[in-house]
Amino acid sequence: MKFLADELEALESAHLRRSLRQHDDQPGRLIEVDAKPRLNFSSNNYLGLALRPELVEAARESLEMGTGSTASRLVTGNLGLHEDLELALAKFHGCEAVRLFNSGYQANIGLISAVAGPGDLILSDQLNHASVIDGCRLSKAEIRVYPHSDPQAVAAELQASHSGGRRFVISDSVFSMDGDMAPLRELREVCDQHEAFLIVDEAHAVGALGPTGAGICAMAGIRPDALVGGLGKSFGSMGGYVAGSVDLCEFLLNRARSFVFSTALPPAVAAASLAAVALLSKSAGDDLRATLNDRIDQMRDGLQALSLLSSGAGQSPIFPILTGSPAKTLECSQGLLDRGFFCQGIRPPTVEKGKSRLRVALSALHQPEDVEELLAALSEVV
Ligand SMILES: *Cc1c(COP(=O)(O)O)cnc(C)c1O
Repeated sequence: MKFLADELEALESAHLRRSLRQHDDQPGRLIEVDAKPRLNFSSNNYLGLALRPELVEAARESLEMGTGSTASRLVTGNLGLHEDLELALAKFHGCEAVRLFNSGYQANIGLISAVAGPGDLILSDQLNHASVIDGCRLSKAEIRVYPHSDPQAVAAELQASHSGGRRFVISDSVFSMDGDMAPLRELREVCDQHEAFLIVDEAHAVGALGPTGAGICAMAGIRPDALVGGLGKSFGSMGGYVAGSVDLCEFLLNRARSFVFSTALPPAVAAASLAAVALLSKSAGDDLRATLNDRIDQMRDGLQALSLLSSGAGQSPIFPILTGSPAKTLECSQGLLDRGFFCQGIRPPTVEKGKSRLRVALSALHQPEDVEELLAALSEVV
């Protein structure tokens, strides 16, 4: 397969070839890169939970049950821990039920391909996460990508389409590469007017944002027909879930292929997630969210002063710093590394051509002086 080497070569010369870095220390506020500790501004560990003793201890205790769940939930893999976690998440979201998946990616592809099919219409935001895009493709429904966060365009599409099938509108709540938020109230209204279902992917929001950490739908005071959450980011563990009605979750148990045909999460992961939900439901969660919000405010004001604040950013821990070309992006990322900061550059195909960027991800683990120093370094390298 000689074409592989050719394609890799082409990626290399376009500054688009990717490689792995090894991080053997648990990345927290600091992360070791090239054998030196750097301030970590690239992880999704928004609340620092991946390091919490409560989670580590819960995982350790569960090891009595062994390391693997041994089968899918529908065969022999269904543990009390999985059911407890689904109940705890349903309570966290104030919804009827939750269906757990092995990752956010699997939740999206399982959900979307189960509820939508040939003859149906899906309207999907231009900047939705890759797992949403893949779920839409798997469903074989007709897919129309609408301009980013444009409820009028959604309304016009729904108005014009008379396919007779089911209609779905799908949006991330916080967009992973821009940190901006979808106009969820408007989307809910448009869906209600045109009899469409609303699916919202809250992977970046759950745990960290919104009142009690329940996400942006809760903040906007709306209920989607299905909410997708992730346990690998603010919850510091791994997994994904769909929150909604009992019927939806029963349906997914029967029809979501990534649920039916995949080994259940191991006990240690489910136990860590359960401990995370318990922690984030208490005042400790409120404290962590308040700290994160302080850092977000500081970053927003600092970037504004440097004229580096992207429009729409400033309400979530994700801040894009647009750098343009892949080469310039790599140079800026290296410049930050030289100054003691790890901040990953993002290039096509993760973002559109010409929109390469540094992506700063804040965490409640950061100290105010960490953010201050990053701002100073950014003013030098960008
Ligand atoms: C991270 C992310 C996912 C995927 O979640 P994993 O648990 O990492 O597979 C899905 N959707 C969005 C919006 C995400 O940011």
